[in-house]
Amino acid sequence: MDTALAPYAANESQSRGRRHPEPRSAYRGEYQRDRDRIIHSTAFRRLVYKTQVFVNHEGDLYRTRLTHSLEVSQIGRTVAVALQLNEPLTEAICLAHDLGHTPFGHAGQDTLNACMQDYGGFEHNLQSLRVVDVLEAKYADFSGLNLMFETREGILKHCSAHNARELGDVGERFLNRKQPGLEAQIANIADAIAYNNHDVDDGLRAGLLTLEQLREQPLFASRFDEVHERYPELEDRRLIYEIIRRMIGAVVGDLIEETRRRLDDVAPGSIDDVREAGKPLASMSDTMYEQHVSLKRFLYKHLYRHEQKLEMTRKVQAMVSDLFKAYMDDFQIMPDEFAAAAALAEGADRARIVADFIAGMTDRYAISAHEALTG
Ligand code: MG
Repeated sequence: MDTALAPYAANESQSRGRRHPEPRSAYRGEYQRDRDRIIHSTAFRRLVYKTQVFVNHEGDLYRTRLTHSLEVSQIGRTVAVALQLNEPLTEAICLAHDLGHTPFGHAGQDTLNACMQDYGGFEHNLQSLRVVDVLEAKYADFSGLNLMFETREGILKHCSAHNARELGDVGERFLNRKQPGLEAQIANIADAIAYNNHDVDDGLRAGLLTLEQLREQPLFASRFDEVHERYPELEDRRLIYEIIRRMIGAVVGDLIEETRRRLDDVAPGSIDDVREAGKPLASMSDTMYEQHVSLKRFLYKHLYRHEQKLEMTRKVQAMVSDLFKAYMDDFQIMPDEFAAAAALAEGADRARIVADFIAGMTDRYAISAHEALTG
C-alpha cells in the first residue's frame, strides 16, 4: 500500500504505530483505517452543527466546521499526491484537525479558555487530540480511536512545554524542537488555505465584505483582473467563484513548487530526516506567503471583527460562560456519563470534564442547553 511513496513520506512499515497494538487489516492500510475511524466518530458528525465563522443558524449556505474540514482535506490530498506523500494520512489529519473545536468557533474557544484559566486552560487543537486519544468511547479494548502515531503527531499542531511533557511521545517534538512529518505540515497549511478562501466567499455572501475592499488585496486583485478581462459581463456569483478557484489554484501550485524546491535542497531520505530538518520543508514561497498573510489580516479586521460578528461574539461568550458556571456549581445537571465522571473527580479534573462536555456541544445543543438553564 506504500508503493509510489517518496522516501520522505510517512510509511506505515516505519511507523511508530498505535498505543494499543492491533492486528493488521487484510485489505486496508493503517492510515486508511485511521481516516475511516475518524469519519465514523461521534465528534466528526458533530462538526456539521458547529460554527466555522457564521453561527449555524445564520444561514444554510455558509461553511460549517464539517464542510471546512472537507475542503481542508481536498486541498491537503491534492498537495500530498503531487509530492508523493501519504495521501490517506494527510486526509486523516485534515479531517480530524478540528474535532476538538467548541461550539461557536473562536469565540467559544476563547471563552472556554478564559473559564478554564485556573484549571489548565482550554485549547481546541489539544482538545482534538484528546478526542481521538481519550474521549471517543467506541471500542471494547481502549478509549479513544487508537490512531497511528503519525496521525496524532499531525493533529497536535502546537503545544506548550507543560502540556508537551504530560503528553509523552507525541509531545516530544515540542521539547526537542523538531518538525512533524510532511503530511502534518501540509495539513496545517491546507487548513490556512481553505479558510482564507472560503471565508472570502462566505464574507461576500453575507454582505460583510465587498469586491471593492477585496480588490486592495493582491492575491484577490490579480485574479479579479484576470477573470474580469476574460469575462467582462460575468455576473457576481460566477465572478466570485472564478476568482476563488484561481486563488486556491495559485496558492496550492506555489506551495507544491516551493516545497519541491526545499525537498531538492535538503534531500531528506526518510520521515525522520524531515523531522530533523530544523525548519518546515512544506512552505509557500515568500512572495505568496506575504499575500496570503495580508489576506488573512484583512479577514481578521473586516470579517472576524466586523461589528455584526462582534455582536454575535458577545452573545455566545455569555452563553458559554453561563454554561460553564452552571455545571461547575452543580455537576449533577450534566448528562449521566459526565455527571458520574465528575462525581469521581475534583478541582481541575472536574473542571476538565465540564470543559469536555461543553467543547463537545454543537451550536444548537449549546443554545438549547442554555435556554433550559435560564428559562
Ligand atoms: Mg481548521
